[in-house]
Amino acid sequence: MHISIKGIVQGVGFRPFIYNLARCYSLSGYVLNNTKGVDIEVEGKKENVRLFLQDIELKSPPLSVIEEIKWEELSLRGYKNFEIKSSKKEKERFLPISPDISICNDCLRELFDPSNRRYRYPFINCTNCGPRFTIVKDIPYDRKRTTMSSFKMCEECEREYNDPSNRRFHAQPNACWKCGPQVRLLDREGKEIKTSDPILTAASLIKEGKILAVKGIGGYHLACDATDPEVVEKLRRRKNRIDKPFAVMMLDINQVKKFCEVTPEEESFLLSPRRPIVLLKRKSQKVLPQEIAPRNKYLGVMLPYTPLHYLLLEEVKIPLVMTSGNISEEPIAYKDEDALCRLKTIADFFLVHNREIEIRVDDSVGKIVDGERVLIRRSRGYAPQPIKTHFTSKKCIVAFGGHLKNTFCLLRKDYAIVSHHIGDLENLEALSSLEEGIEHYKKIFYCMPEVVACDLHPNYTSTALAKEYSRKYSLLLIPVQHHHAHIASVLAEKKIDGKVIGVAFDGSGLGDDGSIWGGEFLVADMKEFKRIAHLRYIPLPGGEAAIKEPWRMALSFLYQIYGKEGKKVACQILSDVVKFEKIEAVQKLIEKNISSPLTSSAGRLFDAVSSILGIRHRINYEGQAACELETLAEEKKESSYPFRIIEKKGRFTVDTLPIIEAILAEQEKGTGLEVIATRFHWTLSQIILEVCEKIRSIFSLNKVALSGGVFQNTLIVRQVRHLLTSSGFEVLLNSSVPPNDGGISLGQVAVACQRVTDRL
Ligand SMILES: [Zn+2]
Ligand SMILES: [Zn+2]
Repeated sequence: MHISIKGIVQGVGFRPFIYNLARCYSLSGYVLNNTKGVDIEVEGKKENVRLFLQDIELKSPPLSVIEEIKWEELSLRGYKNFEIKSSKKEKERFLPISPDISICNDCLRELFDPSNRRYRYPFINCTNCGPRFTIVKDIPYDRKRTTMSSFKMCEECEREYNDPSNRRFHAQPNACWKCGPQVRLLDREGKEIKTSDPILTAASLIKEGKILAVKGIGGYHLACDATDPEVVEKLRRRKNRIDKPFAVMMLDINQVKKFCEVTPEEESFLLSPRRPIVLLKRKSQKVLPQEIAPRNKYLGVMLPYTPLHYLLLEEVKIPLVMTSGNISEEPIAYKDEDALCRLKTIADFFLVHNREIEIRVDDSVGKIVDGERVLIRRSRGYAPQPIKTHFTSKKCIVAFGGHLKNTFCLLRKDYAIVSHHIGDLENLEALSSLEEGIEHYKKIFYCMPEVVACDLHPNYTSTALAKEYSRKYSLLLIPVQHHHAHIASVLAEKKIDGKVIGVAFDGSGLGDDGSIWGGEFLVADMKEFKRIAHLRYIPLPGGEAAIKEPWRMALSFLYQIYGKEGKKVACQILSDVVKFEKIEAVQKLIEKNISSPLTSSAGRLFDAVSSILGIRHRINYEGQAACELETLAEEKKESSYPFRIIEKKGRFTVDTLPIIEAILAEQEKGTGLEVIATRFHWTLSQIILEVCEKIRSIFSLNKVALSGGVFQNTLIVRQVRHLLTSSGFEVLLNSSVPPNDGGISLGQVAVACQRVTDRL
């Protein structure tokens, strides 16, 4: 029988698995890697062949993903034994590369087994675990094309590597104490600290209150004692990071349960081999210092995912802050020299090693909403695993993504390869990271883009790079509207061809009328969209400045309600935090329509409410005002505030001013902030329901796709899903990519693909 398997089946221990399985069922034949996946021929007892086939799907190695398995009966060839044949060379060279995966249980057992030759070896790995994507320099994936090439395997490692029955058969990063990478401890000047065990010494330094830079899989972390508020505060100061939450690494699930509420879904998310940071609700008692995540009901927690982390955490026994190794918003450091230079004002010591990181990859972040996984940042453990699409592109397409939380995406036939997290494109470092990233992916996925997609916004740096790229190679450039891309990302994920109602709620994206959109109801398929409804336009006084200073949006709403008297009302609310002259000056911007573009953004509505309630007038990280408003809101049903849906020629505008008026009246009455925050959330959800119902009655559409940063808000997602499903809608949400701007590169390739296909 001949069997061919497609998917992620190379470099993940698939051939040894097949080899051992065939032997177990006394089958003869062979297995080999080809450029499409794995090829197998087996002969033996009919029943055994059947069981063999069944086990391939049931027991395949943890890192493998079987996308397709085909078999056909052949005449007997009379194989004598079962062997692993060397790879066939064919023209097609594309092969998915596995993401980096957390240490497996077998390796973990060996790590702490004193009789094992890799006892306490910080780089233990096997075909089921360890670094992959971050060490690959070129394809095909084998040791000489990884950053492990400089380490020559010792005899014992070599023997394991060549033994098909061994767990380390063809494990490219295979290494041991004798032949592999080693850890060193340095002071901030880069001078080595003499110690017999750098990890033990590092652990005691952390317990003394020191801050350490720790080299990981995809970059450097800054680590310190998470239980000591003073140390955490010191890290904030040195890192120049105000308020933005830090992630915490905890030894095991029991420790996590001491500090956070953990549902079974959250537990399995934490423990999954991808090991993301999972946002968990803090326990009110026994909480860690507030300084870790000020005014935030969630705590980002991850479990150790490298052997080095386990050795460190086992020793310190306390939760550690493990935050990205950077200053402020720059990309994380991943090259040793750069790290020593950039982080020496933050870290007291450096725990480093000599296995190079080829590409920078941040930790992934996710949370569980209604039992389902939602990704906030899709990076380590996920990227660059391709997302299989239901459409096929004849041409390779590259999409440059958005401006914030940038990712890019390559579409190669029916594989969408969404990149790791590049970050906000607000500094040169991030920009070159995007450019280099694209070149790297082109190489390792063997793909030459023929079409370029980008955001509609001409001033995004990602758009500028896309333009430059398309000019350089004389390629077709397809700009895609921001919110259409959001909705298309859901359609691509959920494999939907027809039209849906698309609700895109986020901070901002340029609309095709030149205004800044962000509270949008579209009727869309992957190719095109019509804007059917949106939140009322409000001036954004000072443009970018209004995003950083929510009080400007508060004033802008008040001006819409009270006209010239708006500043007086604003003064009562803002007198402690903003000078009257400043308020007056900003009101002038609105009155005279100077640098005050119109926006329908839902994010800005959150901002205005947050400021009016006195929660947040200036932000220190993106989405902070909305996040703190969500923290105050409670998980119970409340009535919504009034709003008006105004119809004009089959298009709708949602007037949000009555909401603000109602909130002001509530404040007058002395209603508690928690109640107001809760009612505000229900109001937005109710708006979404009622507008969707109106659109359904006109277009007879019953599927609603929800995307955009607002749908990271747990309460909104729960409420909207509840309201829409109760009204008979089918609700679609992102699950493979984030609903925020990290997901729009996928939407961009989906739209570009449909438009190109039409041109052919
Ligand atoms: Zn392992
Ligand atoms: Zn060795």
